[in-house]
Amino acid sequence: MRLRNVSGSRDVIAQSPLVVHDPETLKNNWNKAFGNDHPIRIEVGMGKGKFIHELATQNPDINYVGIEKYSSVLIRALQKMEDAPLTNLLFIRMDAEDITKVFGSGEVDKIYLNFSDPWPKDRHAKRRLPSREFLRRYDCFLKKDGVLEFKTDNRDLFDFALEELSFAGWEALQVTYDLHHDEKMSAGNIMTEYEEKFSSKGNPIYKYIIRR
Ligand code: SAM
Repeated sequence: MRLRNVSGSRDVIAQSPLVVHDPETLKNNWNKAFGNDHPIRIEVGMGKGKFIHELATQNPDINYVGIEKYSSVLIRALQKMEDAPLTNLLFIRMDAEDITKVFGSGEVDKIYLNFSDPWPKDRHAKRRLPSREFLRRYDCFLKKDGVLEFKTDNRDLFDFALEELSFAGWEALQVTYDLHHDEKMSAGNIMTEYEEKFSSKGNPIYKYIIRR
């Protein structure tokens, strides 16, 4: 039966070979999961997976891991794989707070954050995926010269994310406050689900590319 007709996302995800169920066991061994030595790139908080699915389709010689907290959302990414299967894309259902248990030192080539939840209350700042706490986590497994790319339409979150860089020892390589009108930074841009929704309302999209 096609996944589109299935209710009960937890059971489907528990049985899916596209979802890594014990990701800690693959720490330092992700190349074995993919069966090759290609670079590994991840999207944290991928949502329904449009962005990472398109990226993986365009780049068959790069391996991708999509991380999403909720089964009800992750199942949408599995449906995309049913329609257009790929061998270079795997998923993890987890809270990214535990991400350092999953990837070893230097194991990841690039990190994508797209339209991360803003967590507007100050007391929840540590939950924001571009916070200094998360940047320290990413530092544990991102390759030495690896980069992190972040897009959002939320100006407060973007300003916060830029301010966090120096606290965690990162620096901005490229910044734009209007991605879709920035010829250089928009080249090859793949729209996420949220990006389509918010840019169609006329919201500018902010983006940075950072490294340590
Ligand atoms: N990246 C997608 C896009 O741009 O269309 C989805 C954006 S949506 C606003 C944020 C997604 O991140 C949600 O699906 C949410 O469940 C997921 N998320 C938020 N915090 C997370 C965390 N700590 N670990 C894993 N996923 C998380």
